[in-house]
Amino acid sequence: MQAEEKARLWMKCHRGILRQSIRRARRHADWRRVCHALLDPFFPVSYLLRNMVILERETPWKRLTHRGKVQAMHSLLRERALFFLQVKTWLKTNGGYKTIVDFSPPFAGRGTPSYCTHCGGCCETASGFPDFPSHSIIPQRWKEIFSSGLGKGHRFCPFLWEYRKTGMSLCAIHPWRANPCRVFGEDDCTFVLQDPDLAHVTHEKHIGKAFKTLIQGIKASPF
Ligand code: SF4
Repeated sequence: MQAEEKARLWMKCHRGILRQSIRRARRHADWRRVCHALLDPFFPVSYLLRNMVILERETPWKRLTHRGKVQAMHSLLRERALFFLQVKTWLKTNGGYKTIVDFSPPFAGRGTPSYCTHCGGCCETASGFPDFPSHSIIPQRWKEIFSSGLGKGHRFCPFLWEYRKTGMSLCAIHPWRANPCRVFGEDDCTFVLQDPDLAHVTHEKHIGKAFKTLIQGIKASPF
Protein backbone atom coordinates (compact mmCIF):
# COMPACT_ATOMS: atom_id res chain seq x y z
CA MET A 1 0.00 0.00 0.00
CA GLN A 2 1.26 3.48 -0.91
CA ALA A 3 2.10 5.93 1.87
CA GLU A 4 -0.85 8.17 1.00
CA GLU A 5 -3.32 5.29 1.04
CA LYS A 6 -1.90 4.17 4.35
CA ALA A 7 -2.23 7.67 5.78
CA ARG A 8 -5.89 7.70 4.67
CA LEU A 9 -6.43 4.35 6.36
CA TRP A 10 -4.94 5.57 9.65
CA MET A 11 -7.06 8.72 9.48
CA LYS A 12 -10.22 6.71 8.83
CA CYS A 13 -9.47 4.45 11.81
CA HIS A 14 -8.78 7.43 14.06
CA ARG A 15 -12.08 9.05 13.13
CA GLY A 16 -14.09 5.86 13.55
CA ILE A 17 -12.65 5.10 16.98
CA LEU A 18 -13.09 8.68 18.12
CA ARG A 19 -16.72 8.76 16.93
CA GLN A 20 -17.60 5.64 18.90
CA SER A 21 -15.70 6.83 21.97
CA ILE A 22 -17.55 10.16 21.94
CA ARG A 23 -20.85 8.25 22.11
CA ARG A 24 -19.62 6.44 25.24
CA ALA A 25 -18.20 9.65 26.69
CA ARG A 26 -21.68 11.01 27.35
CA ARG A 27 -22.13 8.29 29.95
CA HIS A 28 -18.80 7.85 31.70
CA ALA A 29 -15.84 10.01 32.73
CA ASP A 30 -13.32 7.32 31.73
CA TRP A 31 -14.52 7.55 28.16
CA ARG A 32 -14.22 11.31 28.29
CA ARG A 33 -10.56 10.82 29.19
CA VAL A 34 -10.17 8.34 26.32
CA CYS A 35 -11.65 10.93 23.95
CA HIS A 36 -9.31 13.55 25.34
CA ALA A 37 -6.38 11.28 24.43
CA LEU A 38 -7.84 10.38 21.01
CA LEU A 39 -8.22 14.05 20.15
CA ASP A 40 -4.51 14.61 20.68
CA PRO A 41 -2.58 14.56 17.36
CA PHE A 42 0.05 12.29 18.90
CA PHE A 43 -2.09 9.55 20.40
CA PRO A 44 -0.87 6.24 18.90
CA VAL A 45 -4.06 4.73 17.47
CA SER A 46 -2.26 3.07 14.57
CA TYR A 47 0.08 1.31 17.01
CA LEU A 48 -2.88 0.19 19.05
CA LEU A 49 -4.32 -1.45 15.93
CA ARG A 50 -0.95 -3.00 15.15
CA ASN A 51 -0.91 -4.25 18.75
CA MET A 52 -4.15 -6.07 18.05
CA VAL A 53 -2.77 -7.63 14.86
CA ILE A 54 0.20 -8.95 16.86
CA LEU A 55 -2.12 -10.41 19.51
CA GLU A 56 -4.19 -12.16 16.83
CA ARG A 57 -1.19 -14.40 16.13
CA GLU A 58 -0.63 -15.39 19.76
CA THR A 59 -2.05 -18.63 21.13
CA PRO A 60 -3.55 -17.29 24.41
CA TRP A 61 -5.32 -14.63 22.37
CA LYS A 62 -6.64 -17.16 19.87
CA ARG A 63 -8.14 -19.09 22.75
CA LEU A 64 -10.21 -16.12 23.92
CA THR A 65 -13.85 -15.97 22.96
CA HIS A 66 -14.97 -13.11 20.75
CA ARG A 67 -16.47 -11.45 23.80
CA GLY A 68 -13.16 -11.88 25.68
CA LYS A 69 -11.27 -10.25 22.82
CA VAL A 70 -13.69 -7.36 22.65
CA GLN A 71 -13.31 -6.72 26.39
CA ALA A 72 -9.53 -6.99 26.21
CA MET A 73 -9.47 -4.48 23.33
CA HIS A 74 -11.49 -2.06 25.34
CA SER A 75 -9.02 -2.37 28.26
CA LEU A 76 -6.03 -1.84 25.95
CA LEU A 77 -7.49 1.40 24.62
CA ARG A 78 -8.44 2.68 28.05
CA GLU A 79 -5.09 1.86 29.71
CA ARG A 80 -3.12 3.30 26.82
CA ALA A 81 -5.18 6.49 26.84
CA LEU A 82 -4.85 7.06 30.58
CA PHE A 83 -1.07 6.59 30.53
CA PHE A 84 -0.78 8.81 27.45
CA LEU A 85 -2.52 11.63 29.32
CA GLN A 86 -0.14 11.24 32.27
CA VAL A 87 2.88 11.59 30.00
CA LYS A 88 1.28 14.50 28.16
CA THR A 89 0.71 16.36 31.44
CA TRP A 90 4.30 15.78 32.53
CA LEU A 91 5.66 16.96 29.18
CA LYS A 92 3.80 20.25 29.54
CA THR A 93 6.01 21.18 32.47
CA ASN A 94 9.16 19.76 30.93
CA GLY A 95 9.55 21.62 27.67
CA GLY A 96 6.32 20.69 25.88
CA TYR A 97 5.95 18.93 22.54
CA LYS A 98 8.71 20.96 20.94
CA THR A 99 11.15 18.96 23.08
CA ILE A 100 10.28 15.78 21.22
CA VAL A 101 8.97 16.92 17.84
CA ASP A 102 10.67 18.65 14.98
CA PHE A 103 7.71 20.23 13.21
CA SER A 104 9.57 20.67 9.93
CA PRO A 105 8.99 17.77 7.51
CA PRO A 106 9.98 15.09 6.62
CA PHE A 107 11.14 13.88 10.05
CA ALA A 108 8.91 14.00 13.04
CA GLY A 109 11.31 13.17 15.82
CA ARG A 110 13.98 15.38 17.28
CA GLY A 111 17.51 14.10 16.91
CA THR A 112 16.59 10.91 15.08
CA PRO A 113 19.14 9.62 12.56
CA SER A 114 18.54 10.24 8.83
CA TYR A 115 17.95 6.55 8.03
CA CYS A 116 14.98 6.41 10.44
CA THR A 117 11.66 6.14 8.57
CA HIS A 118 9.60 6.28 11.78
CA CYS A 119 8.08 2.89 11.04
CA GLY A 120 7.90 2.26 14.80
CA GLY A 121 9.14 -1.33 14.42
CA CYS A 122 12.01 -0.82 16.88
CA CYS A 123 9.63 0.43 19.60
CA GLU A 124 7.08 -2.32 19.00
CA THR A 125 8.24 -4.11 22.10
CA ALA A 126 6.25 -4.38 25.31
CA SER A 127 9.18 -3.64 27.61
CA GLY A 128 12.88 -2.85 27.70
CA PHE A 129 15.90 -3.00 30.01
CA PRO A 130 15.53 0.01 32.34
CA ASP A 131 19.01 1.42 32.01
CA PHE A 132 18.53 5.18 31.78
CA PRO A 133 21.21 7.88 31.47
CA SER A 134 21.81 9.97 34.58
CA HIS A 135 20.20 13.05 32.98
CA SER A 136 16.93 11.18 32.44
CA ILE A 137 14.52 13.09 34.66
CA ILE A 138 11.39 11.09 33.94
CA PRO A 139 9.62 9.76 37.07
CA GLN A 140 11.10 6.59 38.57
CA ARG A 141 7.73 4.89 38.23
CA TRP A 142 7.90 5.34 34.45
CA LYS A 143 11.29 3.66 34.34
CA GLU A 144 9.63 0.71 36.04
CA ILE A 145 6.79 0.83 33.52
CA PHE A 146 9.34 0.88 30.69
CA SER A 147 10.76 -2.30 32.21
CA SER A 148 7.50 -4.12 32.92
CA GLY A 149 5.31 -2.73 30.13
CA LEU A 150 1.87 -1.18 30.41
CA GLY A 151 0.20 -4.47 31.31
CA LYS A 152 -1.43 -7.56 29.92
CA GLY A 153 -1.78 -7.55 26.15
CA HIS A 154 0.23 -4.38 25.50
CA ARG A 155 2.76 -5.03 22.76
CA PHE A 156 4.47 -1.70 22.19
CA CYS A 157 6.47 0.69 24.33
CA PRO A 158 4.41 2.81 26.77
CA PHE A 159 6.16 5.90 25.37
CA LEU A 160 5.60 5.25 21.71
CA TRP A 161 3.41 7.97 20.23
CA GLU A 162 2.31 8.65 16.68
CA TYR A 163 2.97 11.74 14.61
CA ARG A 164 -0.29 13.42 13.61
CA LYS A 165 -2.26 10.29 12.66
CA THR A 166 0.23 9.37 9.94
CA GLY A 167 1.38 6.05 11.40
CA MET A 168 4.86 7.55 11.92
CA SER A 169 6.45 6.86 15.29
CA LEU A 170 7.44 9.43 17.85
CA CYS A 171 9.18 8.86 21.20
CA ALA A 172 7.41 10.80 23.95
CA ILE A 173 10.53 10.80 26.11
CA HIS A 174 13.15 11.07 23.39
CA PRO A 175 15.63 13.33 25.27
CA TRP A 176 15.33 11.07 28.34
CA ARG A 177 14.96 7.66 26.67
CA ALA A 178 16.76 4.53 27.88
CA ASN A 179 20.25 3.53 26.78
CA PRO A 180 19.10 0.41 24.87
CA CYS A 181 17.02 2.76 22.67
CA ARG A 182 20.11 4.88 22.02
CA VAL A 183 22.31 2.04 20.78
CA PHE A 184 19.79 0.81 18.21
CA GLY A 185 21.80 1.33 15.01
CA GLU A 186 21.31 1.36 11.25
CA ASP A 187 21.95 -2.40 10.91
CA ASP A 188 19.28 -3.16 13.50
CA CYS A 189 16.94 -0.79 11.70
CA THR A 190 17.52 -2.51 8.34
CA PHE A 191 16.81 -5.84 9.97
CA VAL A 192 13.49 -4.59 11.39
CA LEU A 193 12.46 -3.06 8.06
CA GLN A 194 13.03 -6.38 6.29
CA ASP A 195 11.20 -8.39 8.91
CA PRO A 196 8.06 -9.97 7.39
CA ASP A 197 6.32 -9.40 10.73
CA LEU A 198 6.43 -5.65 10.15
CA ALA A 199 4.70 -6.08 6.77
CA HIS A 200 2.14 -8.33 8.44
CA VAL A 201 1.20 -5.93 11.26
CA THR A 202 0.79 -3.00 8.89
CA HIS A 203 -1.14 -4.88 6.21
CA GLU A 204 -4.42 -3.19 5.29
CA LYS A 205 -6.46 -6.39 5.63
CA HIS A 206 -5.19 -7.07 9.17
CA ILE A 207 -5.56 -3.47 10.27
CA GLY A 208 -9.13 -3.39 8.93
CA LYS A 209 -10.03 -6.47 10.96
CA ALA A 210 -8.40 -5.05 14.10
CA PHE A 211 -10.29 -1.80 13.61
CA LYS A 212 -13.65 -3.63 13.48
CA THR A 213 -12.84 -5.56 16.68
CA LEU A 214 -11.84 -2.39 18.48
CA ILE A 215 -15.05 -0.64 17.43
CA GLN A 216 -17.03 -3.60 18.77
CA GLY A 217 -15.01 -3.37 21.99
CA ILE A 218 -15.99 0.27 22.43
CA LYS A 219 -19.66 -0.43 21.66
CA ALA A 220 -19.73 -3.35 24.11
CA SER A 221 -18.12 -1.35 26.91
CA PRO A 222 -19.83 -2.16 30.22
CA PHE A 223 -19.94 1.54 31.11
S1 SF4 B 1 11.49 4.87 25.05
FE1 SF4 B 1 11.17 5.85 23.07
S2 SF4 B 1 12.81 5.07 21.74
FE2 SF4 B 1 12.69 3.72 23.51
S3 SF4 B 1 11.33 2.01 22.87
FE3 SF4 B 1 10.06 3.59 23.89
S4 SF4 B 1 9.28 4.91 22.26
FE4 SF4 B 1 11.03 3.74 21.43
